[in-house]
Amino acid sequence: MSLSPFADLPFAGGDLDRDAALRADPDALSALFTDASTLVLEMVGDEVPVRRVADGSRLVLRPPRPSDREQLWFYLGRADGEHWIAVCADTAEGVDPELLRGPRQIGQYLTAREGGALATTLALAAWHRGHPRCPRCGAPTRATHGGWIRRCDADGSEHYPRTDPAIIVAITDAQDRLLLARGATWPEDRYSLLAGFVEPGESLAAAVAREVHEESGLVLSDITYVADQPWPFPSSLMVGFTARAVTTELHLDQAEIRAARWVTRDDLTALWASGEIARPNRFSISARLVEQWYGQRL
Ligand SMILES: [Zn+2]
Repeated sequence: MSLSPFADLPFAGGDLDRDAALRADPDALSALFTDASTLVLEMVGDEVPVRRVADGSRLVLRPPRPSDREQLWFYLGRADGEHWIAVCADTAEGVDPELLRGPRQIGQYLTAREGGALATTLALAAWHRGHPRCPRCGAPTRATHGGWIRRCDADGSEHYPRTDPAIIVAITDAQDRLLLARGATWPEDRYSLLAGFVEPGESLAAAVAREVHEESGLVLSDITYVADQPWPFPSSLMVGFTARAVTTELHLDQAEIRAARWVTRDDLTALWASGEIARPNRFSISARLVEQWYGQRL
């Protein structure tokens, strides 16, 4: 492959300057709402307005409105002299509902900058919705610093957005076969790589070794970082690895993994052709790790 499978990973290529200094400047933030060059990304529920273009989709960004500050909003950053703000609208008023699309529909068709802005907006919106109160004293908190802090006025504590790291790993054996597994709740034809959340006090590599051993019984070596992808469903960071299986005998945790199999590239080509295994969507880092092993664009 001439291009790395990870070069255009959705959500991972955002390049806005997040400008932490501006977040801390209330007057400068206020001025953005009366500046017609400010670009507003309006999110309705978890959907955003897009338009189709020849090579994908583009976000429909608009100038700010006075009412925007009454909604939940975030400062996303700036690029090319323009500031980006996200506004989370309660209703689709003022947005053509025909244009609204969800992130899974459009994530892989946006520009890198737009994808990064959308991932940030989704994750921050979920954090605000889920954290209306102070974890110390239970009083309501309010958004400040352009939506990057929630402050409790009762006890003066400040609370920051959270990201939940998770690992995903492409495991090969000594014959360079790839391990594919089917989650307990997945359709019959869906197979993917093993994955799981990092636990408190655990390194990423330790999480890879533990999750894989728990779910499959395999022991790993050569655990190697490859790439990572913001995964705002709602607030994960998927960290992708490759690893080599020291053992190949599978002992599946049936509560989590219904089936697993070692496949060669020819096996996988045939399984995709027969429909026994569905071709993965290139949207996720999981598919890109499979693609890297497979050696051809999916
Ligand atoms: Zn408090």
